[in-house]
Amino acid sequence: MNAEIHYPGGGLILPLRSAYDWELMLETVGDCAARKGGLSLCMGKYEWRVGRAETASPETCSECQGPLRKVVYRRNRRRLCSRCMKATQ
Ligand SMILES: [Zn+2]
Repeated sequence: MNAEIHYPGGGLILPLRSAYDWELMLETVGDCAARKGGLSLCMGKYEWRVGRAETASPETCSECQGPLRKVVYRRNRRRLCSRCMKATQ
């Protein structure tokens, strides 16, 4: 499986073959979201909108109810942390 990251003015494709690849991809997505404000992430059958988390009053993850501190993954009306997003793939 590949992760396709699209943002205004560019994008990149990262292979997801190992736990390390996942780590690298989540880090890259976090950096991109922080720098560019938002991006889309296509992976397998899902497309996610990724954005910066509200630091002042963090939202909570729809799945684990944990605070979303850095990056928020949105699909349909759900918002997930990176751990729960990974678990849906
Ligand atoms: Zn979660």
